[in-house]
Amino acid sequence: MDLGHLLHLLIPSWKSVAILALFFTYLAIAGSILPGKLVPGATLPDGSRLHYRCNGLLSLLVLVGLLGVGAKMDIVSLNVTLVLYAVGCKSTNQGSSLKPHVTENLLDDWWFGIQLNPQFMGIDLKFFFVRAGMMGWLFINLSVLARSVQDGTLSQSMILYQLFCALYILDYFVHEEYMTSTWDIIAEKLGFMLVFGDLVWIPFTFSIQGWWLLSTKVELGTAAVVANCLTFLIGYLVFRGANKQKHVFKKNPKAPIWGKPARVIGGKLLASGYWGIARHCNYLGDLLLALSFSLPCGISSPVPYFYPIYLLILLIWRERRDEARCAEKYREIWAEYRRLVPWRILPYVY
Ligand code: NDP
Repeated sequence: MDLGHLLHLLIPSWKSVAILALFFTYLAIAGSILPGKLVPGATLPDGSRLHYRCNGLLSLLVLVGLLGVGAKMDIVSLNVTLVLYAVGCKSTNQGSSLKPHVTENLLDDWWFGIQLNPQFMGIDLKFFFVRAGMMGWLFINLSVLARSVQDGTLSQSMILYQLFCALYILDYFVHEEYMTSTWDIIAEKLGFMLVFGDLVWIPFTFSIQGWWLLSTKVELGTAAVVANCLTFLIGYLVFRGANKQKHVFKKNPKAPIWGKPARVIGGKLLASGYWGIARHCNYLGDLLLALSFSLPCGISSPVPYFYPIYLLILLIWRERRDEARCAEKYREIWAEYRRLVPWRILPYVY
């Protein structure tokens, strides 16, 4: 492939730019006007608190409904409509082939600067971009699914991959309020990495398994399917359980954990439940989930394992940064927590 061809691939079509603009406009309007629980975020250094309208699930359902009505939801139009993301897929040959495109306008948007909680017309941009990225991932997956149905190659592996990812994404929106107490919202500044990560990286790299399955046939035995489902289930229980325990604890430190009074250090840190097993058990759950998205692809190639490997590196790095932040913020309380719970992510290993 020569450089000219590569550069050509990087230029989005006007149609895809228009679809992306429509998608963002829709998200901005839906995020502002649709009803949703107003959740207070973490206390900011100046003592104030931002409030987040958690209407992501409703925004998603309304969008799917609108697309369904507008495009009559047949397979080809689904494929084309969800070209989505100018960032993403430009449909050629009436939607028969999807090629990745990266828009320069997104990459150039580093002008957002490095602010902790930038707002635009009353919308928290970090919250907005994560939402757009998660929806983008779902829509790209649906496009891939539509393509496999269209080609007559729909397989057990594709169904498992699609099912696990769809459950994970829908679960994200059902529990969107938990996002308000996560690192990205409370500690990460909005810069190039967060914008690029949410809008480009999430939808495209998280869907590699689906793209890969379009061209590769995988035979899974019953034991492999059962092991895959168990990995997803255990991962989900740990991931959702840990994040929920922390969220509930932040709202009410006296709330019971696993039916018993919570063990609390210095009135601020939870040291029971998942948070008494490892200091970031939620990362362990997420890693198991990431693995479960790749297992449907078998083990013949490392390509579909890009996401869990990437996530492992990201979360080890994230855990180190969070550890440093918490050590500085909580000082001797954190040191006590480390003594009580020595494992970072996986007990007896790390
Ligand atoms: P956490 O949700 O673990 O948030 C870390 C913060 O929680 C700390 O800074 C501290 O904040 C508070 N905290 C830490 N330990 C305790 C404790 N024992 N008791 C009370 N509060 C505590 O981290 P993330 O935001 O990184 O992750 C949230 C979820 O998102 C995870 O499940 C993760 O796997 C997932 N994730 C997924 C990614 C992906 O690409 N798939 C990328 C990144 C995250 P405070 O100052 O408020 O006390």
